[in-house]
Amino acid sequence: MSRREEISANLGVVRERIAAAERAAGRPEGDVSLVVVTKYFPATDVEILADLGVRDVGENRHQEAEAKAAATAGLDLRWHYIGGLQSNKAAAVAGYADVVESVDRAKLLAPLERGRAARLEGGGQASPLDVLLQVSLDAADADHRAGVAPEQLAGLAEAVADHPSLRLAGLMAVAPLGEDPAVAFARLAEMRDGFLRDHPQARTLSAGMSGDLEEAVAIGATHVRVGSAILGGREVIK
Ligand SMILES: *Cc1c(COP(=O)(O)O)cnc(C)c1O
Repeated sequence: MSRREEISANLGVVRERIAAAERAAGRPEGDVSLVVVTKYFPATDVEILADLGVRDVGENRHQEAEAKAAATAGLDLRWHYIGGLQSNKAAAVAGYADVVESVDRAKLLAPLERGRAARLEGGGQASPLDVLLQVSLDAADADHRAGVAPEQLAGLAEAVADHPSLRLAGLMAVAPLGEDPAVAFARLAEMRDGFLRDHPQARTLSAGMSGDLEEAVAIGATHVRVGSAILGGREVIK
């Protein structure tokens, strides 16, 4: 099987899983979009994905993301930055990303604003940068490495409004390892209800990966981020 055939077959399986989960949740077909996570895989795989109709791709490390976005410029892809973000890299990420999903502290906002404003002035896409606030679903994660603590979410959301080149688009979360994802995502759904009361336009909910996309679609995810189920195990590649 060629790499293209392999990716095409896996993509079909994942699209069918999403469709089945939509039906099971009583959601309309096509309600949930797919971001294919291409981390550790080469730009040639990104080209295959684009050719197979994928428009949204995700990366979690700045240097790799920047290189792949440059290598595939012209393919009309939307780049989602989904990884931990250092504030000294944030301006550079805003230079190529279309969506930054992992905003977890206010300190990132000024460099993201600066990076996006520079890109807009440089004649790039004339739209603000979409940001998602990554929320922590892990009560045991005392220093909140996996996202903003629920009690700090409202303040962080308000801070985004002070940045004209940023648009608050919604929330992102990862289910903690070792917990039933349905239980973790139920907490996410509740947090989102409260959040939407204050920010009704910020409806994006990024949740669900290869192993738990069904549970995420069930609680209202608007897009899922799927890597290994489409591109294969990362361990064997690298
Ligand atoms: C790697 C990654 C994914 C994709 O995970 P898979 O299990 O390979 O589907 C999704 N979200 C984030 C934040 C990731 O880092």
